[in-house]
Amino acid sequence: MRTTTGWQSTHGSTALEQVPIQRRDLRPDDIAVRIDFCGVCHSDLHAIHAGGAAVGSPDASAGDGAVVPGHEFTGTVTEAGSGVSRFRAGDRVAVGTIVDSCGACPMCRAGQENYCYEFPLLTYGGLDADGSRTQGGYSREYVLRESFAYALPPALDPAAAAPLMCAGITVWEPLRAAGIGPGSRVAVAGLGGLGHLAVRFAAALGAEVTVLSRTADKAEGARALGAEGLLLTTDASQLDAARERFDLVLDTISAPHDLAPLLRLVTVDGTLSLVGFLGELPVNVMDLMAGRKRLTSSGVGGRPQTAQMLEFAAEHGITAQIELLPSAKVEEALTRLERGDVRYRFVLDLSDLG
Ligand code: NAP
Ligand code: ZN
Repeated sequence: MRTTTGWQSTHGSTALEQVPIQRRDLRPDDIAVRIDFCGVCHSDLHAIHAGGAAVGSPDASAGDGAVVPGHEFTGTVTEAGSGVSRFRAGDRVAVGTIVDSCGACPMCRAGQENYCYEFPLLTYGGLDADGSRTQGGYSREYVLRESFAYALPPALDPAAAAPLMCAGITVWEPLRAAGIGPGSRVAVAGLGGLGHLAVRFAAALGAEVTVLSRTADKAEGARALGAEGLLLTTDASQLDAARERFDLVLDTISAPHDLAPLLRLVTVDGTLSLVGFLGELPVNVMDLMAGRKRLTSSGVGGRPQTAQMLEFAAEHGITAQIELLPSAKVEEALTRLERGDVRYRFVLDLSDLG
């Protein structure tokens, strides 16, 4: 085993402690990555509050309350296994929320490893084949199969690119699935880590983008990201005026909320895509019926889409707007994220872990 250092939460605490963590010795198809930058996703907060259970993981209940979060990072390959063909020491790579999958089921064969029938191995809180629990990217080193690492395009700043690997791909897949392009009208609900990248991607795809937010003073920022404007979700008259305006409402809101006002904004045959809150939300079928509306959801993305997203980001100069903090300030990042005090993503600089 190899030993590295990471930031661990125990029993739901956002006061993470520096701990030694073990990584496996390299298998022939593994690479070791020195983690340089890791984004702070709202899912990390959910996982911490759930006592270490990663969002959606079927084996989450097996958690012991301890978690090293972090599932969107960039870094540098330090070592490659004997059978590795795509990377060598010194290469810059990006890693997201999935570090392995069965590779054999219909979803994996279709390049949708994110929906693997065996459930994809999550970057943290997942149960690896050897029985160990994965520990995430708030740490200095990670070991994974080369096929779940991506070459980081040289055009992208490695700190600002880290959030592409969760927030970015999570909004990219539904934008592509909905066929968003020139002439499309897209609304993005919730202007946080996911939401601000959704605005950038949708605008770069050629859509007319509107932000739906409860925070009035995000209007200027929304326009700077490429949106035409911002509708205040707390103002019924603004929502009434936008009735049935959007082909896609991409909902990134992190907390339970009422879907009816969002469905009213969807046009005939349009789609409400829920990627933010992944729990139970009541829906009245009548709100779908009137206008033949579609309700959908998705989780991160498969390998081909992730590679495409990075290529598109490099071509269009898209990265996250970040606030970079030394990793020792992880508690500050988590508590400020919790109260919505970030424009729009914290990224931890792991170099202080030596
Ligand atoms: P974030 O940066 O905290 O952004 C969430 C945004 O939602 C906030 O900026 C806020 O936007 C809005 N919001 C928060 N609480 C709200 C409330 N009570 N009512 C209405 N709006 C509220 O979070 P994030 O990192 O983007 O993550 C967003 C959600 O996506 C999280 O629940 C996360 O777990 C989930 N997620 C899902 C996937 C997936 O695979 N589907 C992947 C990653 C993350 P305004 O101030 O503009 O209103
Ligand atoms: Zn995430």
